[in-house]
Amino acid sequence: MTARERKRDPHRCGACGTQFDVTYFDDRKGSRDVGSGLVEVPCPSCGRPRSVALPIGAEKTMIVEVDEAEADEGGGG
Ligand SMILES: [Zn+2]
Repeated sequence: MTARERKRDPHRCGACGTQFDVTYFDDRKGSRDVGSGLVEVPCPSCGRPRSVALPIGAEKTMIVEVDEAEADEGGGG
């Protein structure tokens, strides 16, 4: 049994600028390319959907995590 490979794709919300990672399991087996599709991932901060290209089937295991490495606390008014 082999461990499933977890992929991580960094993204940035174009609306609020929040950086977040989309992680998922790539269930593609062998070298056969099943293609990829666009999945609408809601921004974890503002909820605005963002189109992300994922391998077919990967959206079932998709997890969205906010990247808090660079928190920007600007004085927004
Ligand atoms: Zn956002």
